[in-house]
Amino acid sequence: RIPIQAAGVAIDVGVHIGISRFPQDSRDADALLKYADVAMYVAKRRGGLFEMYDAALDEYTLRKLTMVSELRAAIGTPALSLHYQPQVNLHTQRAESAEALLRWKHPTLGVVSPGEFMAVAEATDLIQPLTEWTIVEALSQIRRWHQRGLAVRVAVNLSARILQDTAFPARLRTLIEASGIKPRQLELEITESAMMQDSARALGVVRQIHDLGVMIAIDDYGTGFSSLAYLRDLPVHALKLDKSFVMNARTREDDRVIVQSTAQLAHALGLQVVAEGVETEWEAQYLREAGYDFGQGYHYNRAIPAAECFLWMQKFNAAAASAAAELQPLPAAEFRQTAARSR
Ligand code: C2E
Ligand code: CA
Ligand code: CA
Repeated sequence: RIPIQAAGVAIDVGVHIGISRFPQDSRDADALLKYADVAMYVAKRRGGLFEMYDAALDEYTLRKLTMVSELRAAIGTPALSLHYQPQVNLHTQRAESAEALLRWKHPTLGVVSPGEFMAVAEATDLIQPLTEWTIVEALSQIRRWHQRGLAVRVAVNLSARILQDTAFPARLRTLIEASGIKPRQLELEITESAMMQDSARALGVVRQIHDLGVMIAIDDYGTGFSSLAYLRDLPVHALKLDKSFVMNARTREDDRVIVQSTAQLAHALGLQVVAEGVETEWEAQYLREAGYDFGQGYHYNRAIPAAECFLWMQKFNAAAASAAAELQPLPAAEFRQTAARSR
C-alpha cells in the first residue's frame, strides 16, 4: 500500500470489498447491494481485503450492519431530517436557541430513535459524513431563521468519535465559512464520557473548536465522571445538567441538592447552566429560582420540524414581549397625561 500525497501530506488509502452473489443471496438488485455493503462492513471490521455476504451472521449483527448501509443511503434524502427543540432563557422567558436532534424515518421499521442508530453509526466511519451533514443542515437552518428575523442559536450533538478526529476542526471551519453565519451562533454539545477516550487528543480537538469561536456545552452533565479537572481545562461556556436529575427534583431531596449545587458550581466557574427534561411548570419555576439560565423540555415543546419550531418560537417570544410590556412602568410624560386626565 503506497500512501498518496495531497498538499504535502501522505494519506494512507485502504480498501475493503464486500461481495454478494446472484442468485444465491438474493434475486433483487437492491437487496444484493445492501448485502454487499453488509459484507464490506464485515471486511472492514475484520481488517481483510474482501468478505462474502453470509446470511448466517447472527440476527443482531445483521440488523446492525443493514442499518448502517440503510442509514448511509438515507443521508441527504427526506428520510433523514433534523428536528429542533427550543431552549428558553429562564431570565427573559424568550426562546433563544434550539437543539437539533436527528430523526430517521425508516421505510419498514418506522421512526428509528437516534438512541438506537447513533450507536451503530458511531461504531463505523459513517459517523463522519453523518455529523457533517447534520452541521451543514443546522448551519443553513440558522441562516434561514436569521433571514426571517429570528436570531437564535442552534446546538448540535457531537459524538465521542468526532473528538478523536484531529482533522475535524479544520473541516468545521470550512463549513462555517461557507455558511456565512457567525461561529458563536453554533453550539456543539459534547459529553464528559467522550472526553475519557484519549483525553489529551479530545482536549486538543475541543480547544481548536473553541478557537473557531463556536460555543461548547457539556451535555448529560452529572452522568459521567464529572471530573473537576475537565471543567477547569475545557473551554466550554455551559453545563447542561442531565434530565434524570431534573425530572426527579420534585420528589427526591438528593436530586434537588445536585440541581442546586450544579448551578452554584457552574456560576462560580463563570459558566451558564442549562436544564434539560423540564416537563412541568413546577420544574421551570424551581429551576429559575435555582438560578438556571436555560430550560429545555416537553414543558415548552418537543423536538419538532424546523418550520413548526420557527412558528412556536416566534409566538412564544411575542408573548414574552407583551408580558414584559405590561410590567414596564409608563414613560413619565404619558404618566403625567394619564394622571391629569384621571383627576
Ligand atoms: P440528548 O442530547 O441528551 O437529547 C435529549 C433527548 O431527550 C432527546 O431525545 C429529546 O427528545 C429528549 N427530551 C427532550 N425533552 C425531554 C423531556 O422533557 N423529557 C424527556 N423524558 N425527554 C426529553 P432523542 O431526540 O431521542 O435523542 C436521544 C439522544 O440521541 C440524544 O440525547 C443524543 O445523545 C443523540 N442524538 C440525537 N441527535 C443526534 C445527532 O445529531 N448527533 C449525535 N451525535 N447524537 C445525536
Ligand atoms: Ca444533547
Ligand atoms: Ca442530554
